[in-house]
Amino acid sequence: MSSYRFETRALHAAQSRDGADPGRAVSIARTTAYNFRDTEHAANLFALKELGYIYTRIMNPTQDILERRMADLDGGAAALALASGTSAIFYSIINVCVAGDEIVSSGNLYGGTYTMFSSILPDYGITVRFADPLDIDAVREQITDRTRALYLESIGNPALSVPDFEAWGKLAEEFHLPLIVDSTFTTPYLFRPIEYGAHVVVHSLTKWIGGHGTGIGGVVVDSGTFDWTDPKFTTFNRPDDSYHGVRYAHDLGDLNPVAFAMRMRLVPLRNLGAAISPDNAWLFLQGTETLPLRMERHSQNAKAVAEYLHGHEKVEWVRYPGLFGDPASKRVSRYFPHGAGGMVVFGIQGGKAAGERFINSLKLFSHLANVGDAKSLAIHPASTTHSQLGEEQQRAAGLSPEFVRLSIGLEHIDDILEDIEQALQSS
Ligand SMILES: *Cc1c(COP(=O)(O)O)cnc(C)c1O
Repeated sequence: MSSYRFETRALHAAQSRDGADPGRAVSIARTTAYNFRDTEHAANLFALKELGYIYTRIMNPTQDILERRMADLDGGAAALALASGTSAIFYSIINVCVAGDEIVSSGNLYGGTYTMFSSILPDYGITVRFADPLDIDAVREQITDRTRALYLESIGNPALSVPDFEAWGKLAEEFHLPLIVDSTFTTPYLFRPIEYGAHVVVHSLTKWIGGHGTGIGGVVVDSGTFDWTDPKFTTFNRPDDSYHGVRYAHDLGDLNPVAFAMRMRLVPLRNLGAAISPDNAWLFLQGTETLPLRMERHSQNAKAVAEYLHGHEKVEWVRYPGLFGDPASKRVSRYFPHGAGGMVVFGIQGGKAAGERFINSLKLFSHLANVGDAKSLAIHPASTTHSQLGEEQQRAAGLSPEFVRLSIGLEHIDDILEDIEQALQSS
C-alpha cells in the first residue's frame, strides 16, 4: 500500500481483496470469541507462541483493519484501537509509567486529559509536570531522572497553540524519552507527528476521523522506532508473570519493534478492558474513506470563518492557526501544509453575557460538547468543558470569560457565516 498516495490509502489500506471475505465494504465481525483449531492451537495462542484471535476484548477482525489502516495513514508500524480517546491516552501513560515515574506534559490540554494528568494519575503515584509547550527551555527544566515520557497535543486546547514539534522531538532524543502526541485536532491527513520525531500518536476517533458524531473510540499508533530496552522503562524490562515471564522489550521476536503496541494490547487492554466495539470500529473505517476531502473542507470553512471574525466590530480577538498573521503561522505552513483544521476560537465583545447571548442565538450551529462533527458546533468552554478547572487554572489554560469555541462543519460557507452574523448581532 505504501506506494499509493494518502487519499488512496485512506480508502484501501489494510483491507485485503483476496481473503476469505469477498465483500467490497469491510464487514463487521460481531463475535465475542473465535474457534480454536485444536488444543495445541489454543495453548499456543495463550502462550504467545502464535498470534491470533481469542476473544474480542483483545482482538477483532474489523478492529484489526481499522488499526492497520490508522498505522498506515500515520506512518506508524502498529496501532491499537480502544473504546475512547480518553482510554487511548490513559493506556499510553500507564503502558510506560509505574508509581514513582513522571511525565512532562504541555499545559495546553483537552479538559479531560488535564484532569486525568493533574488529579487522577497522581493518586496512583504518577506525577505529571506541566510546561508551556511553546517554551522549550521550560519543558526541558521539568525533565528529571524519573521522567518516562513527553506529552503534547498537535494543536493545543483550548487556545489552539501549535508547538515546535522538532524541538520537542530533539528533547525526546536527547533524554531518550518517548514523545506522545495527541493528534486529534489534525488527523493523519493534516499532520503526521511521527515524521517530526513522535514515537506514539493518539487520536480520539470520535472527532474528525469518525466525522459524523456517531461513535466514541480512540487509537494509539506506535512508530516502531523507540528502543525500550533501556532499563529505566520498568514495564518493558521486568518479566511479566502473567505472561510466562515475558519481557516486552526483549522477548517478542519479530514484534520487538512494536513492543509498545503489543504490550498495550496484552496488558492494559487485556486486563483493564477498554475495548472498542466492532460496530464502532466499522464506523471509523467509513470515516477514514472520506477523511482527506472532509479535512480539506473543514480547514477551508474554518479559515473563512476566522477571516470573517477578524476585525468584526463585535469581536475582540480571533484565533485560528491558519489565519494570516497568527503567531503560529510559520509553524503552521511548515507542519500543516494541507490546512490547519476545523477549530476556531474567538473573544466576543461584552464578555460572558454576550458569549451566552451569542450561543443562545445560533440557529444552524449546534450547542454541544463535541468537536469534529460534519455539522458546525459551538460552546462556551469556561462554563462547560473546562468548568472543572478553577478560575485560576482556567486563566492559566488561556480561557477568558468571553472565550467562544467553534468547530466548523461542512455546511455551505455562506450559511455558516450568515448564522454567525445574525448571532453576533443578537449578542
Ligand atoms: C475528544 C478528545 C479527547 C478524548 O476523546 P474521547 O473519544 O472523547 O474519549 C482527547 N483529546 C482531544 C484533543 C479530544 O478532542
